[in-house]
Amino acid sequence: MSAATPAQIAKGALRRLAMAKLEPTPEHYARAYAEEAGLPVSPLADPKAQGPAWAALIEKLVKGVERGGRQWTTARKKESLQRVLDGSRGDLQRLQQRLQALASAWDGDRHFEDPEAPPGAADDAPPLEMPPTMPAPLDEAPAADPVVTPEPWRPVVSSLEGALRAGLPPEEPRAAEIADRLAALADAIAAEGVSAERVAEVDELCARARRLFAHRHHLVEQLGTLCRELSRGLVEVAEDDSWARGQCESLEQRLADGVTARSVRAATELLAETRTRQQRVRDERNAARDALKSLIHRMLAEVGALGEHTGRFHESVGRHAEAVARAESLESLAGVVREIVDESRAVQELVGAAQRRMEDEHAKANELETRVRELEGELRRLSDEVSTDALTQVANRRGLAQAFDAERARVDRAGPEAPPLAIGLIDIDNFKRLNDTLGHAAGDLALKSLAGAVRERLRPVDHLARFGGEEFVVLLPATPLAEAQQALTRLQRGLTEALFLHEQREVFVTFSAGVTAWRPGEALEAALERADEALYEAKRSGKNRTCTA
Ligand code: GH3
Ligand code: MG
Ligand code: MG
Repeated sequence: MSAATPAQIAKGALRRLAMAKLEPTPEHYARAYAEEAGLPVSPLADPKAQGPAWAALIEKLVKGVERGGRQWTTARKKESLQRVLDGSRGDLQRLQQRLQALASAWDGDRHFEDPEAPPGAADDAPPLEMPPTMPAPLDEAPAADPVVTPEPWRPVVSSLEGALRAGLPPEEPRAAEIADRLAALADAIAAEGVSAERVAEVDELCARARRLFAHRHHLVEQLGTLCRELSRGLVEVAEDDSWARGQCESLEQRLADGVTARSVRAATELLAETRTRQQRVRDERNAARDALKSLIHRMLAEVGALGEHTGRFHESVGRHAEAVARAESLESLAGVVREIVDESRAVQELVGAAQRRMEDEHAKANELETRVRELEGELRRLSDEVSTDALTQVANRRGLAQAFDAERARVDRAGPEAPPLAIGLIDIDNFKRLNDTLGHAAGDLALKSLAGAVRERLRPVDHLARFGGEEFVVLLPATPLAEAQQALTRLQRGLTEALFLHEQREVFVTFSAGVTAWRPGEALEAALERADEALYEAKRSGKNRTCTA
């Protein structure tokens, strides 16, 4: 088959006509075009073959009407046939073309129905958006109008319709209206061929669709701004603002690279996590306030008791003074002094005990304060820790960025023959459920154990990083995409043994992964976005598997 463009073939066809000194009638041109393009010449274009060609066409139409189809029901076939007959009975050649096109469109329906016919029909790709008619095979393509044949147009318009329906929300009435009109156009084109008005109509519908899409892009941009505003606002309202600041900075960096499904999800997770933290901090603060209140009550009681005793002591001192004044004998004075000493000793003990209790409380308060400071420091350290994730001891986002920069430099140095770098995104399956059923501490242990198990099974040149909550990223240098997929699948199969024990019970954990080949020059975030699409596919198609993008 020649690789010439349609314009070159058309030029060649005209040259053929000139050399053969033939008039440029549609039949002659069609024949010359087909010869030039190396296509079989349609018998309908050859005046000598008119009789047999008509007979073959009628036979094809009759068989076509008898044969029901999914898209082309018998009633619809009859209706279209009637329309073609009504519209073209005055022009024999046009009638031939349109009948031929109709028969081919019906045939396309048969190819679509035939379970043996299109290889890959049983693939798990959703069949919903497939064009309702397939382009007719080349040897059946009508050569009467060599430049534009009607049948391939129907799938083209149908694909446009499918793309529009998939790209815009179904509840958007303007999108539904455009899609419905495209569907009607596809039907009309299949039945009657392409005309200048229909091309103009497709053009107009595409322009309207473009406006709708542009509006959606605008909406996405606005959502991005909203995410940024919300995350900035968080720093101001967060009680635990050192943590929130660290998170917001990393989120802002991600949003700066563009609003992607990942960055928006990260913003959502940040909001949710901040809400939980705020709640926790609020609860802790309320508990501390209640503790302080009861401490003050206890101290007041203490001071009250002390006051009572010292008051009583004061009274008895007065009483003793009187007794001393009245005392006439040394014995009676000694008795008073003994009483005074006993009472003052009791008061001294009371004061000493109260002082000790207060010192204890003070030491406890100091201890608590130190602990709070330690915790705050820990939070700050966790938030902007250099490059290792504190829980799993694998690289964190910073560590990942460093590893990626090193790999990128290696690829740049190697030049055009650089070995491929594969990037994988790993997400634990049903992790929320694990947290909910076994508790957060078991969840943390699962993260640690999984990171360890994966690290152990990777090659020393590979990198593993914790990317977020329960997401990890692997960089596999010098690894083609198919091999990377196999490597991750092997990792998944390697986790068939229990990952750890929780209260003497074995806990199994699986993960899903998406893997992609890094394209030289692209940002890590762009490759991760692709890997995330594959990860989503892995989750959607049953989890515990690796998909590629
Ligand atoms: P899927 O299979 O679709 O991925 O479901 P999932 O439940 O794993 O996914 P989802 O993203 O909804 O839940 C992730 C959960 O991981 C939510 C959050 O509570 C938990 N998580 C995130 N970070 C940590 C962490 O550091 N420790 C613990 N224990 N849990 C975490
Ligand atoms: Mg997740
Ligand atoms: Mg998960």
